[in-house]
Amino acid sequence: MVVITEAHLRTKLLKGTLSDPYFISSQHRLTPAAKDFLRDRGIKIKRVDGHPIEQDVQKQTLSIPVGVSNRHVHLSYYDVEVLFGKGYELTPYRPLSQPSQFAAEETVTLVGPKGVLSKVRVLGPARELTQIEISRSDGFIVGIHPPVRLSGAIDGTPGITIVGKAGAITVSQGVIVSKNHVHMSPNDARQFEVKDGDCLIVQAITDRPVIFPEVVVRVNEQFSLDFHIDTDEANAANLKTGDLVKVIGKNGKLFGGNV
Ligand SMILES: [Zn+2]
Repeated sequence: MVVITEAHLRTKLLKGTLSDPYFISSQHRLTPAAKDFLRDRGIKIKRVDGHPIEQDVQKQTLSIPVGVSNRHVHLSYYDVEVLFGKGYELTPYRPLSQPSQFAAEETVTLVGPKGVLSKVRVLGPARELTQIEISRSDGFIVGIHPPVRLSGAIDGTPGITIVGKAGAITVSQGVIVSKNHVHMSPNDARQFEVKDGDCLIVQAITDRPVIFPEVVVRVNEQFSLDFHIDTDEANAANLKTGDLVKVIGKNGKLFGGNV
């Protein structure tokens, strides 16, 4: 008898070779933790007689790790100085999944007509334009209802007041709800058979298997594979950073079979 452990399943999930349903031979056994692992992800267990070789019955599934973005701001060089002082440079606190991007030690307070969000993380390095990314739920707290946009597309978006240690600034635009997207390298893009600007259809592998039907693909030599969603989306789908979503279609078409 072969005992299948949670660690074995986790490795398969990371490699993208864990199928749903999960086929198991009558001579194999799942540990209780392995059973929980499958149940938590909504993966059904199918027993088959004899000796099925897993590779024969499991179709390769492409999956993408999730990165959940909490509310944050990107600041222009000029606004860094206004908020933190002349000649100030942001202090890296921890690296982000995309190369050279970091969460800074610095935080700011966002002030809207209805309320305040404090300790909002600044992401570095400083950029050309200041951009404030909040969730729709955050929007209800501050009384600002920004549109869903990809990073950089801030024309016609609402503004907000940003308060730092050394000063405050009111920007006339720049607040967005980030549109979900996936970062990938050209190598990943070949594997997924997509190009920059294509859309993937992905589904959470959780007990709330939400489908995201229009995930914009952003391809860059610098990017590592990551599906970026905000906290509202993460909570709705029971996802957290490091979880995986499976790719079930692209450019508006499902790959076939049942969802
Ligand atoms: Zn991103």
